[in-house]
Amino acid sequence: MIDIHTHISEYEETEIIQIIKRAQSAGVKNIISASTTINSCEKSLLLSKQYDIIYSGIGLHPMDLTNPINEKILTKLESFCKTSNKVVTISEIGLDFLENMPDRKIQYDAFREQIKLSVRLNLPIIFHSRNADIETLRILKEEQAYKVGGAMHYFQSDIDIANKVIDLGFNISIAKPLLNNTVLQETVKQIPLNNIVLETDAAPQPFKKNREKWTEPRHLYNISKKLSEILNQDLHEIQKMTYENSYKMLSKIY
Ligand SMILES: [Zn+2]
Repeated sequence: MIDIHTHISEYEETEIIQIIKRAQSAGVKNIISASTTINSCEKSLLLSKQYDIIYSGIGLHPMDLTNPINEKILTKLESFCKTSNKVVTISEIGLDFLENMPDRKIQYDAFREQIKLSVRLNLPIIFHSRNADIETLRILKEEQAYKVGGAMHYFQSDIDIANKVIDLGFNISIAKPLLNNTVLQETVKQIPLNNIVLETDAAPQPFKKNREKWTEPRHLYNISKKLSEILNQDLHEIQKMTYENSYKMLSKIY
C-alpha cells in the first residue's frame, strides 16, 4: 500500500525508523510526507533522501499561511521540487474556512499560485478542504488543475462532492474517519473503487495520552480492512486496487 498523505516529518527524528518498520510490517510500501511550511518542506526532503520508502509533497498549508505568497517563496518551492526526484506531489495546499484561520485573500492567492506551480511542473495535487468544498473545487477548475489531477485528502464530504471531485479528474482519499463515521461508510459504497486512494494523515498527537493510539502509517492496514468489510470485497484485492490507483496518480514515484 501507499500512504498518500502523512506528516511523518513532524515526528521526532529518533522515532521515524521505528514508525517505518511498523508501517512495513503492516504492508505499507511507500509513505508520502506532505509539507506545511518552508521549514517542513526542508524536513520532508531530508527524510525522503534518508529513507527509500519516503517520498515528498511540497507546499504551504492554508492553516500555516502567516504571510501572503510572493515570488521569493514561489521560487523556493519550485527549487524544492526540482532539487529532488522524490517530490511526487504538491501538498498540502487548499482552503480552510474554519474560524480563526488565515485571511481568506491570503489563502486564495496561495492556493492559486501553488496550483499554477503544480501545472507548470506537471505534479499532481493532494489538497485540503475544510468548510470550503465548493470554493476549493471552483479554484481548482479555474486554474485547470484537472491537467495534473491528484486527490482530495481526508475525505468526509457527501457523494455529491465526491462526484464533482472525480469529474474534475481527482481521486478521493479515505482516512481514519472511515473506521467510525457511519455516514462516510455509506458514502464510500457509492464511490467507484478505481477513484479511491488511502492515507493516514499521520502526525504526532500529544493530546492522546496513550502513545500507542497516535496515528501512524501502519494504520493504513486498518483503513483498508474496514473498506474491504464495507464493500464486502477481498482485503488483498482492496489493497491492490488502491495501491494501483495511488501509483497511477503519483506517476513519478518510481
Ligand atoms: Zn494533512
